[in-house]
Amino acid sequence: MDSDLAQRIAKITSTLSPSVRSIAVSKTVSPERIRDAYAAGVRDFGENRIQEATAKQDQLQDLNDITWHFIGHLQSNKAKIALERFDWIHSVDRLKLAQTLNRFIEKGCPSPILCLQVKLRPDPNKSGWTVSELLADLPALEQCKALNIQGLMTIAPLGLDESETRAVFRETRQLADRIRALNLPGISITELSMGMSGDYPLAVAEGATAVRLGRSVFGER
Ligand SMILES: *Cc1c(COP(=O)(O)O)cnc(C)c1O
Repeated sequence: MDSDLAQRIAKITSTLSPSVRSIAVSKTVSPERIRDAYAAGVRDFGENRIQEATAKQDQLQDLNDITWHFIGHLQSNKAKIALERFDWIHSVDRLKLAQTLNRFIEKGCPSPILCLQVKLRPDPNKSGWTVSELLADLPALEQCKALNIQGLMTIAPLGLDESETRAVFRETRQLADRIRALNLPGISITELSMGMSGDYPLAVAEGATAVRLGRSVFGER
């Protein structure tokens, strides 16, 4: 048991409202340390690479009440395994991928909770819909009837000051409000997956329902 880890987890838990889901991002973290976090009470874990994640999941099968979150760029050829292995996919970042997921679910694959990844500022290193792209794709997304779309996910660009970062989170919430107001059958946008170790208090202040914390839980990678 790692007492520093347990203390960091306790501290984060004490500062977050129980209504905000705190996801421990365990990319690059060993199964042993995931077990330690589990022993300290963590049940939500986030991974960004399918191969790494499934290898660790295989070693942690006895911890059968973990909720697994996929948060990385998902290639279409890994779409099926992502459906089979994750309870949430936060990083649905393009229509083609949504349509691929929809086809697999129609054929009987599990149907995890999905978030649409949006990009509120230009960022060549990040994928996701811009606001106008997402609004344009909504009718096609609505046709993906098997999908369980419940939220938006965003990553604030590095190097913004606090007020700029907060604006990114605020605009994400406003976009969710705007989509909700359209009352599209099958698209409910109540989850806001936003905030990482460096900026999660700002995200929570702007209405995040899920924060994705790597370094602040497990230490520097
Ligand atoms: C790595 C990662 C995180 C966690 O980042 P930290 O800065 O370690 O908290 C959150 N979200 C995504 C999409 C990530 O890839």
